[in-house]
Amino acid sequence: AEMFGQLTSGLESAWSKLRGVDVLTKENIAEPMRDIRRALLEADVSLPVVRRFVQAVSEQAVGVGLIRGVKPDQQLVKIVHDELVKLMGGEVSELVFAKTGPTVILLAGLQGVGKTTVCAKLAFYLKKLVLYIPEEIDVFPILREDPHGKSCMLVAGDVYRPAATDQLKILGEQVGVPVYAPGIDVKPAQIAKQGLEEAKKMKADVVIVDTAGRLQIDKTMMDELKEMKKVLNPTELLLVVDAMTGQEAAALVTTFNIEIGITGAILTKLDGDSRGGAALSVKEVSGKPIKLVGRGERMEDLEPFYPDRMGGRILG
Ligand code: GDP
Repeated sequence: AEMFGQLTSGLESAWSKLRGVDVLTKENIAEPMRDIRRALLEADVSLPVVRRFVQAVSEQAVGVGLIRGVKPDQQLVKIVHDELVKLMGGEVSELVFAKTGPTVILLAGLQGVGKTTVCAKLAFYLKKLVLYIPEEIDVFPILREDPHGKSCMLVAGDVYRPAATDQLKILGEQVGVPVYAPGIDVKPAQIAKQGLEEAKKMKADVVIVDTAGRLQIDKTMMDELKEMKKVLNPTELLLVVDAMTGQEAAALVTTFNIEIGITGAILTKLDGDSRGGAALSVKEVSGKPIKLVGRGERMEDLEPFYPDRMGGRILG
């Protein structure tokens, strides 16, 4: 299935009503605007965001006629595209790296969102590993390391879910990255502190710290994160959220930002049956950008979040 297929077809029904129209007017865009509104709400974008969006698009659309051979219905597509890109933050929001010492990336998130997987994916991404598929038939594909990639270390700070540590070790091995895992009897802040010292000794460029999630936000989790943040002084504190949860994901980013102060979000499971609401709402609702997106279970399925490409995809 196409990503956000339902949203794409919902929006299409808006333009289809304007075929052959000479100029966009308040009257003839009323019905298409209702289609856009409905499509966004069905994609699980929150109501206030949808209202502002529709308002902004309507204002630009009214009075638009044929411009340089582009018909009014196509102009509306362009207006919606640009507003979608703006909604998603406009520019790509790059990861920030520390000027000296290791860059510390602290990952937070609720249970099951894909946080542990993201740790390893991020190392894979930063090391710039590429899957090299030889031309000879009998030779297995191999992972090649780019000399310009960054050296990484993973820190197993999820002591709440014992299996997480083992999972991180296995994933670390897969991507060829050392994992600092002193065990689940050590306090997370202590693990963080020791992990950072270890990373400095190893002269790692980037240290990625996994933390414990919970099924829901709770005080212990937030306190743990605050303490780890204090100990690590992270360059990036990224909240991992599941795209399937729609506007709930945007609400979570807001809450975590208010509670602990984060630098951005990583949106996972965009390959699944997500409707698009999370990708569209996070920046607008929380003020924090989505920096990376996960699009599958494989190590190579993590990429920067490009608002313009996403906008293009949504419009089909
Ligand atoms: P954690 O509890 O947040 O650490 O979550 P995990 O990293 O253990 O991931 C939970 C499940 O989601 C695992 O089965 C992952 O393979 C899966 N998963 C993680 N990211 C993605 C993604 O981008 N797409 C898909 N389809 N599955 C993912």
